[in-house]
Amino acid sequence: MPNERDRSDAGPGARARESEEPRWPVRGIELPDVGGDPSGRGTGTSPGSFARAARIGSPLSFSSPDTPGMPAPSSRTAWDFMPEDWTRQGDGSWLPPEHFVPITQLEHARLGTITPEMQRVAEREPHLTAEQVRDEVAAGRMVIPANKVHLGYQLDPMAIGRASLTKVNANMGASPVSSGTDEEVEKLHWATRWGADTVMDLSTGGDLDATRNAIIKNSTVPIGTVPIYSMILGRKIEDLDRETVLETLEHQARQGVDYFTIHAGVLREHLPFVRDRIIGIVSRGGSLLAKWMLHHGRQNLMYTMWDEICAVMRRFDVTFSIGDGLRPGGLADATDPAQLSELRTLGTLTERAWRNGCQVMVEGPGHVPFDQIEYNMKLERTLCHGAPFYVLGPLVTDIFPGYDHITSCIGATAAAYHGASMLCYVTPKEHLGLPKKDDVKQGCVAYKIAAHAADVALGIPGSRHHDDELTKARAALNWEKHFELAFDPDLARAYHDEDLDVDTDFCAMCGHDWCSVRISKEIGEFLSGKDESYAWDTPRVTEALSDEQREILEKRGVLSPGEIHRLATKTRLALGAAAGSKAACHSDETDDEAALRIQREKLDPVTLEPLG
Ligand code: SF4
Repeated sequence: MPNERDRSDAGPGARARESEEPRWPVRGIELPDVGGDPSGRGTGTSPGSFARAARIGSPLSFSSPDTPGMPAPSSRTAWDFMPEDWTRQGDGSWLPPEHFVPITQLEHARLGTITPEMQRVAEREPHLTAEQVRDEVAAGRMVIPANKVHLGYQLDPMAIGRASLTKVNANMGASPVSSGTDEEVEKLHWATRWGADTVMDLSTGGDLDATRNAIIKNSTVPIGTVPIYSMILGRKIEDLDRETVLETLEHQARQGVDYFTIHAGVLREHLPFVRDRIIGIVSRGGSLLAKWMLHHGRQNLMYTMWDEICAVMRRFDVTFSIGDGLRPGGLADATDPAQLSELRTLGTLTERAWRNGCQVMVEGPGHVPFDQIEYNMKLERTLCHGAPFYVLGPLVTDIFPGYDHITSCIGATAAAYHGASMLCYVTPKEHLGLPKKDDVKQGCVAYKIAAHAADVALGIPGSRHHDDELTKARAALNWEKHFELAFDPDLARAYHDEDLDVDTDFCAMCGHDWCSVRISKEIGEFLSGKDESYAWDTPRVTEALSDEQREILEKRGVLSPGEIHRLATKTRLALGAAAGSKAACHSDETDDEAALRIQREKLDPVTLEPLG
């Protein structure tokens, strides 16, 4: 019996649990320090999370142990970057100037107010109190992206910060050659159906204004944009000026956009570093602004206008997502002087935005070898004083186009474990084309896996509860419960029923005689079906496949690689490509409008039937 074991063999993890029934030690095995219990209920035999003990209210809220050599957290927070006209009182509180009216969540938090949005965040994340949410927002380690205008529609407030659960962003948007407003709204609903916590509208084609408007009005999740895309609509980047920047930001803020990506950290002095890269600048915003600087021989106007931009953001409480215009676009360019110089500038921009009362998150790479991810996350924590880090991937290898939702979700899991607060999804179409509906789903699912895996590893209370419930259903061989608890119930059911559509005490993977779970039930009576919530009466025939399930099954494996290749060739020929040449609609050959016309004219007759 565990209680009879010699406690002197306990490792530090066991000592931390002395008040609980000891499950450890096992003689001769010593556990590292054990952090929070992600089960939230002390269930299971796992010793708990191997992350540090959760220290909400410090820079180490839900953090990984540091590998030797990692930068220490900054000793400063947003409290060290107060507006110059606020006065510190003897009791440590801050007094704003007379007639000051707080607008942003940060300003309310600085004054000690718990807003309805903070309250809502605490309801949605029960491991946090409303007071903790307020304090994290005041420290700058958490943001609540909630434009005052969007709050007037259907926005359900959420938080991004390392003390909260890891969030996932899905990108979408019409391009000059594909998609439109209705499709984008449909993709919005689809992305939130599959767990996106925020959505970025990155439209560069079609009616940008109408698409943005429709997305905001239909969205319960915060919407982000990269306003420079609209700023250069109908003009060359060289013609971008101060008035256009301010007008565009004000217009989108009035529409209700919750956060803006602004690439103000790319400076003239960083550009020489880009020369040594393999792939140069891969951020659209970063490359456009680099071109503007080279053309005018001046500093990045987003940088020089920062305080004016802050004033617009503050009026509507639009949160900054300070863009990483020099993020690496390949493993060979990761953690290089261009990226790190820009990151230092992002830190100073964070400080200035806090002084202006604005909420801030900071964007990060990109393509990063797995071993460099922890350093990147912890360097941001140092230079940007714990402001939430919002990372794209990162991809941990470059040689799997078509599978980059997988290459990047591996990096995203490590990034979240080491400090990132929000993960921008990558779909299988990354680097290849505009994501369609199923690509959006694949990207969302991959990133929900990354975010959830990190939350469990960090020991966020309750984050493992769902896993434990599914494990119980699996142990009881209760297929109905198993499907019900699965993240994608239709797919789980379809895969199960494809081989064996009868509710049996085993599945088709091992079969009756080899089913270890069934045997385990027999020998241990563990969850043997007697537990009320997992029991089944008699084996039952599951419902027939739904149309959607049937469709999933029909699509699986129908097209061989050869057929896919023939289809691709057929499409290229239809678009005017001879052997070895580019299609007539290729961007090297024609402009956006002509490309769209060619595709409309030529693609209609092309069907997706396999060729005979
Ligand atoms: S047959 Fe194999 S895979 Fe299926 S439930 Fe039993 S042990 Fe699990």
